[in-house]
Amino acid sequence: MARNSGKKIHGEANSLARKTGTLYVVATPIGNLEDITLRAVRVLGEVDLIAAEDTRHTRKLLSHLDIHTPLVSYYKDKEVSKADTLIADLLVGKDVALVSDAGTPGISDPGAILVAKARQAGVRVEPVPGPSALIATLSVAGLQDSSFVFLGFLPAKKNERRNLLYGLRNENRAMVFYESPKRISSCLRDCEEIFSERWSLVARELTKIHEEILEGTLVEISRILADKVKIKGEFVVVVAGAQVSDEKPDSGEVNELLVWCRDSLGLSLRDAVKKITGELGASRSEVYKQALDIWGEGRE
Ligand code: SAM
Repeated sequence: MARNSGKKIHGEANSLARKTGTLYVVATPIGNLEDITLRAVRVLGEVDLIAAEDTRHTRKLLSHLDIHTPLVSYYKDKEVSKADTLIADLLVGKDVALVSDAGTPGISDPGAILVAKARQAGVRVEPVPGPSALIATLSVAGLQDSSFVFLGFLPAKKNERRNLLYGLRNENRAMVFYESPKRISSCLRDCEEIFSERWSLVARELTKIHEEILEGTLVEISRILADKVKIKGEFVVVVAGAQVSDEKPDSGEVNELLVWCRDSLGLSLRDAVKKITGELGASRSEVYKQALDIWGEGRE
């Protein structure tokens, strides 16, 4: 097996003893190049091939590290066909490193298809952990409760996004999502409308020169962003979960939910009742009575 540095990869059990190569899933910096790990540098230098989301982007990182491993492109639109070619390389014993433009591959980035196919083909898959915007944000969020819900990117279409957020209004874990500069304002406005005055944290340009961490209510953060002439950068948003309450939902809330289940989710009366009683712990007979009124509305 051709290796750039002539060294063997130690500690990653066995790729020499086995016939197939190893797929290394390598995290790379989300801004500051000093965040690359020692192991990532070694692995990138020693594998036969680096599969990169954008080869031009990764070439800059590699030239900074003085690494000359051959690059092939592995991007979202061609994940299936590119994965097959890479599996063929792995099966003849080549070691491959998978990288994305920034952070950890497979986390809102290409990678899942290749990883699944590699494992199915009996190829060893090893993580080479390191930066991720998600974990970097959580590390400075100060959440007391260690559980959270990661939503990746929210839907770009306003309606779909609002439906998703509305469905999460009783979620009591903190919610975390990625957002682009183009949509951050409208997305925060939707959050504000649905989650009202909840605490939120917005991390912008982490590890870069213009790193900024905003904390406050959704209204306050929206206001700060609205004051900026132009919104630039990459964002991670954390929104506090709902307060757990023992109070039963009032009939106005149940009514509103039933209408939403019918009109936005297209649920049948039966499924809507099941959903609401399951999620809110409301009395089934009460919800059912209200549902009959609502579903009856449109009838002659
Ligand atoms: N796989 C990457 C990871 O592990 O962080 C995430 C890739 S995803 C395509 C890119 C999104 O991550 C951006 O739109 C932004 O929401 C977030 N992101 C990436 N780098 C960031 C940074 N330096 N500061 C804040 N958010 C960042």
